[in-house]
Amino acid sequence: MTEEIKLQVQKNHEKKYKEGCPLLSKEALTNPESIYKEGSLFKLMDTEGNFIARGYYGLQNKGIGWILTHKEKDAIDHLFFQRKIAAAINKRSPFYHREDTTAFRVFNGEGDGIGGLTIDRYGEYYLINWYSLGIYQFREEILSVLNLLIQPRGIYEKKRFDEKGQYVEDDDFATGTRADFPLVVKENGVRIEVNLNDGAMTGVFLDQREVRKKLRDKYAMGKTLLNTFSYTGVFSVFGALGGAKHTTSVDLAKRSLELTQAQFLANGIDPETQEIRVEDVFNFFDYAVKHGQKYGIVVLDPPSFARSKKHTFSAKKDYPALLERAIDITEDNGVIIASTNAAAFDMKTFKGFVSKAFQKKELPFKILEEYSLPRDFPTHPSFPEGDYLKVLFIKKETSP
Ligand code: SAH
Repeated sequence: MTEEIKLQVQKNHEKKYKEGCPLLSKEALTNPESIYKEGSLFKLMDTEGNFIARGYYGLQNKGIGWILTHKEKDAIDHLFFQRKIAAAINKRSPFYHREDTTAFRVFNGEGDGIGGLTIDRYGEYYLINWYSLGIYQFREEILSVLNLLIQPRGIYEKKRFDEKGQYVEDDDFATGTRADFPLVVKENGVRIEVNLNDGAMTGVFLDQREVRKKLRDKYAMGKTLLNTFSYTGVFSVFGALGGAKHTTSVDLAKRSLELTQAQFLANGIDPETQEIRVEDVFNFFDYAVKHGQKYGIVVLDPPSFARSKKHTFSAKKDYPALLERAIDITEDNGVIIASTNAAAFDMKTFKGFVSKAFQKKELPFKILEEYSLPRDFPTHPSFPEGDYLKVLFIKKETSP
């Protein structure tokens, strides 16, 4: 391991770090220039020279490194990584004992004690996300710990640290045996096809597990379902399996068509019985309004930011307007499942967006369900930005 550098926190930032804030920001330091290398270990001191914490340097969108321990005697070495990862695996032991769910998050960054690192299980394979070149310096340690603790059949990895903090296109195979893709994993008994070596995304977002289950078990029966920003259509598959009368999936990515067909087929549903449209969601809204089409359930799960030929969508600015479009094509007493992974605003603000949209339409509504990240995505109490997922099931009520 590398030598440790001493960093001093400015007086007005001391409290935050003493109280446990895990993300190191440049503004907090009196001597930021002494940080010199991705993966360097640092010791954080207060203005009096007392020890506050220890961590590693790694440039990410929002910070320059992560705090790893507040105990002066804790060394950041092989054993440290082993302890943290073993604790995370133990915490997931109920998941490891399930046969109906084989994909879940095993390690969730700062929520499990190491910011900038996530590890997901996909059946016998594992996927590591490295969020900085800094954490990537510990790659060998972390791979060897994983091989020691769980003997995966194979490990894949995503390097998410190009100049803009984005995914680096590469062969993502790391060690072990290569998988045959698509790989089929299970979630609450549903089969999901994933590919761990085909770009930044795998085919499924594991953090929506509980939402998909609720949709299938309580809301889908007998309903028509519109799934917007549908990607590989996993919400549609859960809807269909829950007894939805019909599903429509809309996504502008060309590949979403074959990927969605495959997800249906993997679950014994003939994709020809469902509608899958490769189209801009905003065009689809116009089309549906023009043809008087309404849906019993509308799923809204847009990216935080997206640019298509005609539209730029930013969740923070445009979500209320998106909700208004959805309200127009939801049946009376129908349900909108509104989701966002935007870390830039919290649940209170998101609920405010819902009120604003319904107020504009002069319609009453009722929030039926509320979700944030599931248990395998623990967050850090001093880092609320990590708690990004917000999902609401909203009933469109009729005017009195
Ligand atoms: N709801 C999906 C994940 C959505 S990921 C799931 O649970 O699996 C975001 C998706 O939005 C991407 O597939 C992207 O192609 C799509 N997208 C972004 N802008 C869009 C637009 N204007 N119209 C349709 N799809 C869009």
